[in-house]
Amino acid sequence: MNLPTSRRSAERREGGPIPLEDAERLLFSRVPAPTLEKIPLQRAAGRILARQAEADADQPPFNRAMMDGYAVRSADGASQSLESIDDIPAGKSSKVTVGPGQCARIMTGAPVPAGADAVQQIEKTAQADGRVRLLEPVAAGQNVAPRGSEARTGDVVLTAPRLLRPQDLAVLASVGVTRVLVFRAPTCAVVSTGDELVDPSKKPGPGRIRNTNGISVPAQIRRLGLTCEVLPPARDRLEELRARIRRGLKRDVLVLSGGVSAGDRDLVVPALEAEGVKTTLHQVLIRPGRPIFFGTRGRRVVFGLPGNPVSSFVTFEALVRPFLGRMMGFEGLGARRIRARLAAPLAKKMERTVFWPALVTSAEDGPVVTTLPWKSSADLATLARADALAIQPRGTSLDSGAWVEVMLMDG
Ligand code: AMP
Ligand code: MG
Repeated sequence: MNLPTSRRSAERREGGPIPLEDAERLLFSRVPAPTLEKIPLQRAAGRILARQAEADADQPPFNRAMMDGYAVRSADGASQSLESIDDIPAGKSSKVTVGPGQCARIMTGAPVPAGADAVQQIEKTAQADGRVRLLEPVAAGQNVAPRGSEARTGDVVLTAPRLLRPQDLAVLASVGVTRVLVFRAPTCAVVSTGDELVDPSKKPGPGRIRNTNGISVPAQIRRLGLTCEVLPPARDRLEELRARIRRGLKRDVLVLSGGVSAGDRDLVVPALEAEGVKTTLHQVLIRPGRPIFFGTRGRRVVFGLPGNPVSSFVTFEALVRPFLGRMMGFEGLGARRIRARLAAPLAKKMERTVFWPALVTSAEDGPVVTTLPWKSSADLATLARADALAIQPRGTSLDSGAWVEVMLMDG
């Protein structure tokens, strides 16, 4: 089952550790070209809009009353009492022309009739003997949204690419787009590997641990709006891994965890190679992390994340997430990044780019980031307490107050 040492070390050399920036460049150069599909508007939330949307008519399409009240001529002022000549509910358009000394009762959303140039709200009017008096004058245009004030026919109302939120769907509906051109969302499969893994519902026996990546990795994928098939975990056996990989390669993206480092039982890379996957990179100078595999077979892509739960989480956020975003035609799907000042120094220079679990607070001169020390390389509790990852570039020592890049983990 173990491969000859010569082959294993040759493989190591080929995929030697590379700086994070180089890994990003290399990875993003391998993103398969996004393809398009049309889907019903009701199902488009969370998808990436591929084509800008334009107004198919002026919006609003008429001078729209913004209040319940009376459509009036502002020049009439507030002194005289007015004759009300019509009653205009929303959804109806009036044929009348409001002349001097006249007004029309009107409801929010109704078209303001000809002749009138303002709406006085009902609370600021008094009705007596069938006549209407304004308690306050109105200015021309008051409480009226003029035709085309939101958009003119042909105006771009939504730019692309963009992540579609409920309010964006409302905009599409308002211009009559009921089938939406979006980037096709890649399909994903997840496989956890390791002889020691037990299902989280079980109490681990001696030397065994609960499979947490089998929960966190699919959740990381699904929160990007992607579907994900979770395959049964694979033991550290070449044939079992190969069988799982064959199944996973039916999807656009296969994400494995564990078994990618240099141990005797780390058979994921040999199994991938045996299934025809070509290695692009195997080690990245990142902490937590380092052994992280990326390879391709035709249009299919494979990530092999380190098994350590913290490493698997961080490498996903740092590399897999922005990759998946690009597969969907949208760079903005990566975690939001901000710059913040360090509350305490990160004095020790590191050989690898370090992602520190951190808390972000706001101060007068901008956000401040407090790093939390990792207790061990599998410290899920600290990761869960953090709301961000502060990035210490490799080979740099940072003073307190220095600006650093921070990856926000929430929202
Ligand atoms: P590996 O990358 O397979 O060498 O695993 C590194 C460490 O992560 C080991 O301590 C494993 O037991 C642990 N590990 C691997 N896979 C998982 C998983 N799916 N859930 C939790 N821990 C894991
Ligand atoms: Mg393992």
